[in-house]
Amino acid sequence: MIPKLEVTGVSYSYHSLDGETLALSDISFSVEPGEFVAIVGPSGCGKSTLLSLISGLISPEDGEIRIDGIPLSASSPAIGYMLQKDHLFEWRTIFSNVSLGLEIQGRLDASAKAELREMLTSYGLQDFERAKPSELSGGMRQRAALIRTLALKPDLLLLDEPFSALDYQTRLAVCDDISSILRSTHKTAVLVTHDLSEAISAADRVIVLSSRPGHIKAVLSIVFPEGCESPLARRNCPEFSNYFNSVWKELKTYE
Ligand code: ADP
Ligand code: MG
Repeated sequence: MIPKLEVTGVSYSYHSLDGETLALSDISFSVEPGEFVAIVGPSGCGKSTLLSLISGLISPEDGEIRIDGIPLSASSPAIGYMLQKDHLFEWRTIFSNVSLGLEIQGRLDASAKAELREMLTSYGLQDFERAKPSELSGGMRQRAALIRTLALKPDLLLLDEPFSALDYQTRLAVCDDISSILRSTHKTAVLVTHDLSEAISAADRVIVLSSRPGHIKAVLSIVFPEGCESPLARRNCPEFSNYFNSVWKELKTYE
């Protein structure tokens, strides 16, 4: 099977007047179709840089990124990118926020509108179609941002600390919601987070990065028994603390 995403020997430096900052060094991994991979690492280790590279916003100095086997530089794959801040426009209603991408692409026809309404209903936002973002809670706003992202039907979702602006309880609930939505729609996702519990509760695999320049320290497969699929269920499984300790051990040895 061709991997959805292949990152091979990727390095990246930022250049500024003060000199050069090597942010990432020799990163290689791949993600299978439908897989949910989490990347954890200390603040400043290059996690956001890695997602910017995968999204094609910036290009690697060394190495290559392929999506569906095709170099990123030679294709324009459907990538959804979700950030910590929801970037909803305050002057637009929730419906006109979630439909914005489709509107820009000229694809907002009657069936697309019906599909958006279905998504709003399944994510519990059906009564907020005409509301402004300021009338919604943080968790609801983040769900609206997810609908806006998914409406463009991306094959690959990049999530950069999408829950970190939420309070703890909301964060658990929204992480649970979003990961079950992604799993039921068989989306391939790469989640970047500095929260190891979040990574272990959501992912099939956790990639641990070192502090800057980020390189891969460890890759752990996360397997939970049947009945422990959702993030909340996983947190209550006995295996959770074993995985937590394994990832923690990798993270705390700074080198
Ligand atoms: P993370 O998301 O893991 O916190 P980033 O990918 O944002 O880390 O940043 C990695 C490193 O690169 C950091 O040390 C940061 O200071 C540096 N960096 C990020 N963006 C820039 C930039 N535009 N110019 C210079 N250095 C940058
Ligand atoms: Mg970041």
